[in-house]
Amino acid sequence: MIGTIQVILQQRDGALHRMSHEVLAAGQAVRAATGGRLEGVLIGHHLDAAAGEVGAIDVDLVRVVDHPSLAAYTPGGYVSALGQLMADTVPDLVLLPHTYQSVEFMARLAGDCDAALVPEVTGFEVAGDGLEWLRPILGGKLVSRVAVDGEGPVFVSVQSGAWSADDLQAGSADREPFNLGADPALDREILGTEEVAGEQVDLSQAEIIVAVGRGVGDADKMAPIEALAAALGGEVAASRPVIDSGWLPRDRQIGSSGQTVAPKLYLALGISGAIQHLVGMKGSKTVVAVNKDGTAPIFSVADYGWVGDLHELVPALVMALEEAG
Ligand code: FAD
Repeated sequence: MIGTIQVILQQRDGALHRMSHEVLAAGQAVRAATGGRLEGVLIGHHLDAAAGEVGAIDVDLVRVVDHPSLAAYTPGGYVSALGQLMADTVPDLVLLPHTYQSVEFMARLAGDCDAALVPEVTGFEVAGDGLEWLRPILGGKLVSRVAVDGEGPVFVSVQSGAWSADDLQAGSADREPFNLGADPALDREILGTEEVAGEQVDLSQAEIIVAVGRGVGDADKMAPIEALAAALGGEVAASRPVIDSGWLPRDRQIGSSGQTVAPKLYLALGISGAIQHLVGMKGSKTVVAVNKDGTAPIFSVADYGWVGDLHELVPALVMALEEAG
């Protein structure tokens, strides 16, 4: 039986990460299926605006863990603060977004809480009194079902795009502050953070992605692709062969050995649609595929498709967008 479901909400400077909304949608789905109680957990400093935003979503309570030393994320601070919260509130299920940040601290936190950890789920099914979690494995070729036996909380991280923020139901929830006890892990001052040139691009935040595959042909054919991404206000990304050929940097790769994304629009240009690529982008809201080969598997996940040469279409699209202003 699942009583309390806590959703750990990622934020930075008070702005919720896109995936926080998706995990709340997952939490609402689990609550609907199990009848549990859903709590949003905010952790950081100066969280009033974020707490107001979560309070307007249909959760049963917003827990706010606010402390000056949590103003900037550190794994030790988060493990200490969330560990204290969970020791006090004893949730049955803890949902987290599967982000670089969560990946850094969740295993240690789950260990401290004697909890099972099921990473990167894309769905669940009710099975008897409990839940079976669905998670793609082997580069998305298989889906495994994971059920957790025994006592104690279960931690589940949710893959990008598995649930849609558009499905979130609005509501009105009270907020409850949680007062932290002293801990050396919290007794530190973060002097500041700065963006480092060459930092990894976080494509999971992008709303529009223009992705190219081997079909683009060569590095010197990238300029029109970049012009199209700029005209759409999106990011350029790629399949693995493009990265392996050195036509784009490694942090632009989408797929099982790259990033998982869920933009509103995913434009796939000259990408065949191998499973290792699809697993990284199939959570996209709208997929538009352009390929010379009408039988390419990418069309099976596309909402719109165009069979033809991307080198003809892309410049025409850029021109049309520029003319439209
Ligand atoms: P291709 O399969 O070569 O397809 C090129 C497509 O472009 C074709 O469909 C062709 O019809 C089309 N085309 C050609 N010219 C044009 C044109 N002028 N206009 C329009 N269309 C054109 N792949 C990833 O993408 N991401 C990963 O993270 C990833 N991880 C992997 C991990 C492992 C362990 C393994 C084994 C593989 C992995 N792969 C990954 C590779 C994956 O299996 C595919 O080989 C790869 O996705 C194919 O890339 P592609 O579609 O760009 O190239």
